Formats: sequence, C-alpha cells, structure tokens
Amino acid sequence: MVRSAGVSAPTIPAGRADDLASRLPVLRAALERQRDFRREQVTQVDLHQPTRTPSATKDAAGRAQEPTPALCEIEALVAAGARRALTDIELALAQMRTGRYGCCRRCGTGIPLAVLEAIPKTTLCLACQQPAEHNALPAHTALRAPRRAERSSAAR
Ligand SMILES: [Zn+2]
Repeated sequence: MVRSAGVSAPTIPAGRADDLASRLPVLRAALERQRDFRREQVTQVDLHQPTRTPSATKDAAGRAQEPTPALCEIEALVAAGARRALTDIELALAQMRTGRYGCCRRCGTGIPLAVLEAIPKTTLCLACQQPAEHNALPAHTALRAPRRAERSSAAR
C-alpha cells in the first residue's frame, strides 16, 4: 500500500474516515494481539502470587529467604498495568464493534490516526487524557512558554 506522493492527490476533507477504515483491520489485529498478551500477563501474575509459607525457609547459613519486596512490588505494578491496559484494549475493541473507534469516548473529538497507529488502544483524545487536576484549565491554554529573548551573539 504505497500512497502515491500525491501530485494529483487532493486533500479530501472527509478523508480521515476512509484512512481510518482502511487501517481498521490492522489496528484491530494489533489490539487483539495486545489483548492476548495482556491476558496472559495477568494470568501469569495471578499464578505467581506468593504461596504463603508459615515459616520462612532458611538456607544453609541460616538466613531467612524471603521473596524480595522489590520483586513483589514490580509484579504488583506489572499486574496493575496489565489490567489497566487490558481494560483500555477491550474498550477500544468495543468501540470498533460499535463504530465509534477513533473518537474520544469522553468528548467525541476525533483522535488523530497517527496516534491510533502508535497506540491503538487510545480511546481518549489528548485533552481528555490529561489528569483530572488539570481539567480546571481551559484546553486551549496550552503551555504558552514566554518567548525567550534570543541573544544573538553578534555583538559587534
Ligand atoms: Zn476528548
């Protein structure tokens, strides 16, 4: 699928929907793969739950061998992340089924195809992805950095 670097390609205003439609099978396949992966991840972490031994086993030197807390923490983080991702993925797949994929599930804004291709499970537009605490700011008050007076070193 090579798009002719358009000499005669007009900019179609409604072209986005067509683009999205043509990419949908690929995106769906990617999502289904990710869903399978995450499901497996969640199952594995669940299986991995430390079996609680009443007395800590000790090695020859008499040191207690306990699961390293750091590892448990990481596993918990992985599990939480996997579950969150799984939720997002299933949401995105559900949106595909209802034909609403590519629209922000909160405000309905179209999500750029480039974003969907990079992260197919995206179901929120950028503005709605902002943490709740930032919602007080109007969306368009994007960080307008004060212009730095550029010092050109042409001091002559
Ligand atoms: Zn939105």
